[in-house]
Amino acid sequence: MSLTITALASGSSGNALLARYGDAALLIDCGIALRTLEELLRYQGLSAAGICAVLLTHEHGDHSLGAAALARRHGVPVVCNRATREALGATLQDVPVEDLPAGELAAIGPFDVRSFAVAHDAADPIGLRLSAGGASVAVAVDLGSWNETTVAALRGADLLVVEANHDRELLRAAPYPLAIQQRICSARGHLDNVQCGELLSRACAGAVCDVWLAHLSAQTNSPQVALAGVRRVLDLAGVTGARVRALPRRAARGAGGAPTWCAEERMLTQRSLF
Ligand SMILES: [Zn+2]
Ligand SMILES: [Zn+2]
Repeated sequence: MSLTITALASGSSGNALLARYGDAALLIDCGIALRTLEELLRYQGLSAAGICAVLLTHEHGDHSLGAAALARRHGVPVVCNRATREALGATLQDVPVEDLPAGELAAIGPFDVRSFAVAHDAADPIGLRLSAGGASVAVAVDLGSWNETTVAALRGADLLVVEANHDRELLRAAPYPLAIQQRICSARGHLDNVQCGELLSRACAGAVCDVWLAHLSAQTNSPQVALAGVRRVLDLAGVTGARVRALPRRAARGAGGAPTWCAEERMLTQRSLF
C-alpha cells in the first residue's frame, strides 16, 4: 500500500486531485461537474460513492463546483473551514460539512491532513499537506504570493503541487481588462512562473522531490512555457533534486489518462538513481 495522487483536473476550468491509500480515496477540491467527475473516477476504477471526503481549499467555483452535488448524490462529506462554508452559503444547504480548523491535524480515514493559510482573494483560502503511509503531498494552488509559512508547509513533502498560473509577458500582452490583469498579478491573485520557481527554490532546496505545476492558464501559459520558466529559476538557484512536470487542464479520457504519482514507485525510482 502506498499513497497515490492523481490529477483529474487543473486550472481555471476546474480542479480536482484524487488521493488514494489502500481502499480509501478522497478528493482535494471538486471544481468540475459531478457527471465529469464520475466519468473520470470510473477510469480510475472508482465510483463517486467510494470517496470518503472532499476537501475544499476555497470557495471559488473552479474548486467547489461539483462538491455539493457529490455530497448530495453520494453522501460524501465536504470538509472545509468555516469561512469557506459561509462563503458557499446556500450551495451547501442539506450537505454534510465537517470543519477543518486552520493549522490543526485532522485524520480522515488513513490520511492525516493539515491546512495552512495562503494569500488569495477568497474568504479563508488554504493549502493542504496530506500524508499516509509515511509519504506526503503538499498542495498550494491559487495563491498570489508566498511566505515562510508556505515554504515550511511545502518543505519535505514527497510531491509538491504548486500553482504556476501565468507567464508575466503573456499576461501583459493578453486582451484582459486592466482590472483583471491587476487582480491576477496581485499578492492575493495567482503565482506566475517565476514566483512559482522562487517558491520551489526555497521549498525544494537540498531535497529530492517531485513537483507538479498546477493551475496553468490556457491563455497566458502553456506546459512548455511554465516548465522552462520554473526550471530556469531552479537552475539559477542550484536546485537539482526537483523533478518537475506540468499538469494538463483535464485528464485524458480512458484508463491511464490522468497524471498519477505513486509514493512506492517514486521510492523505487529514487533507489535506482543512487
Ligand atoms: Zn481561486
Ligand atoms: Zn482556481
